[in-house]
Amino acid sequence: MHNLSATELLTIWEHTLNQSPVHRALGLLTVAFPEYTPEQLARLSIGQRDTLLLNLRERLFGSRLDSTIACPQCQQQIELAFSTSDIRVEPTPSGVNDSAATAMSLTLEGYKVNFRLPNSIDLVSIETCTPADHAHEQLLHQCIQSVTRLTEDNDQEETSNDVRQLPASLIDAIAERMAEADPQANTQLALTCPDCSHVWNATFDIVTYLMDEIHRLAKHILQEIHNLARAYGWREADILEMTSIRRRAYLELLGLG
Ligand SMILES: [Zn+2]
Repeated sequence: MHNLSATELLTIWEHTLNQSPVHRALGLLTVAFPEYTPEQLARLSIGQRDTLLLNLRERLFGSRLDSTIACPQCQQQIELAFSTSDIRVEPTPSGVNDSAATAMSLTLEGYKVNFRLPNSIDLVSIETCTPADHAHEQLLHQCIQSVTRLTEDNDQEETSNDVRQLPASLIDAIAERMAEADPQANTQLALTCPDCSHVWNATFDIVTYLMDEIHRLAKHILQEIHNLARAYGWREADILEMTSIRRRAYLELLGLG
């Protein structure tokens, strides 16, 4: 992993500002993990991608995560504080490998299905898909590599991988196997409301969380540049070359720290 400079952070923020979350996550990882090709990063399973994003988040902002959420029963706003280790699935994947593409298989209801885990390329391809259940169907369709019908006399015949023609129980079992194989892709927080004692699970999305933090940091850096440039007449590039410690020290001298 590579330590992102203030210039790189601003560049990523600017270039990905109007992009979808999937593209923003890939743009960020491409700069932060130059040891991997963009193609390798795009083919990571969603859980592997989120593991890298968690590692990057720790490097940029530390391990403590703060958030607020409304209780679905009494609507009270609840403050949450947890750690990256609370939501990290162990063992940590060792890094980028081909396991996301590794064929998994399942035999059920007279079918044998070979499939792989969804990756960022799959998520991009369903971004414009509506309604949501069509998107889910298309995602599964893309990940199913082959379907074999097992006949009564033990013959096998290749059949369509159209998910609409497969039994619902088989589709559910594939989705369940995918979730088991890639647990980091679906981070759940077990919550209890301190006011009404309602107990529920909430999804934590590292992409949205980290992108919000980077957005706030980019705005903060721009404010620092603005204040220093206005006071001293320095160029943006020269201010960005400074460490954050030095920028803060000058801002303190200006009474703006
Ligand atoms: Zn409540």
